[in-house]
Amino acid sequence: MAGAIRCGETRLIDHVFLMKRRPIIAIDGPAGSGKSTVTKLIAKKLKLLYLDTGAMYRALSWLMIKESIDYKKEKKLKNILKNISIVFKSNTNSHQDVYINDYCVTEEIRTQKISSIVSKISSIKEVRKFLVEEQRKIGESGGLVAEGRDIGTTVFPNAELKIFLTASIDERAKRRKSDKNSKDSQEIDLHTLKELIKKRDFEDSSREISPLIKANDAIEIITDGHTINEVVDKIIDLYNDKIPKETEIK
Ligand code: C5P
Repeated sequence: MAGAIRCGETRLIDHVFLMKRRPIIAIDGPAGSGKSTVTKLIAKKLKLLYLDTGAMYRALSWLMIKESIDYKKEKKLKNILKNISIVFKSNTNSHQDVYINDYCVTEEIRTQKISSIVSKISSIKEVRKFLVEEQRKIGESGGLVAEGRDIGTTVFPNAELKIFLTASIDERAKRRKSDKNSKDSQEIDLHTLKELIKKRDFEDSSREISPLIKANDAIEIITDGHTINEVVDKIIDLYNDKIPKETEIK
């Protein structure tokens, strides 16, 4: 907002930036593009909340398997979702644990069993409706950096900064293979891992609701040949350019 008053011959103008909430950074991209590592570091450096939306889809998939929920029956699923709570809690290692209905599933959701079913479950209308609402509640007052597939297009379309992080399939498979959090990936050969990632990318980007696509106003960063710190610094520079310090709500 800009206001001007006259003081004799002099016209005084002042600008005030109005923001209803703290800023939001949306980071989307395919599997293995480095989203999690980069997003966590940005959250730490900028003192923002870290929201891993993929962990929410994974946790829900875990529960569906555990409780043999028939996710194809939409009406029944709608009622089941009403009684599901997914929360993130900081643990003693300063990392986040994810809980679904009080089960701590942080490690179990990183298995290949979950990776192979999660795209199917995340394509269900009721599932997306439920989780997008939960994600928006978490981001209500802003001050967060969220990673996923549809953050910039659907969850927070008004995010102040949108990044589309990607890398070649070879690079992404190599990263997954050496990812200590992705336990099963270490046991799969590189070729198979590449095929599994391609399959998940295809399912995520060809689904009907909120497919994985780059938002029109997102900035694409291809991470091949760049270190994690280079990517983090680039995003922080973009954030500082986009969000003048005086606009920030403390
Ligand atoms: O990011 P991550 O690989 O853990 O995500 C697991 C899966 O969750 C994705 O392959 C996708 O099917 C789903 N997902 C989604 N929308 C998001 C985040 C994840 O559909 N915002």
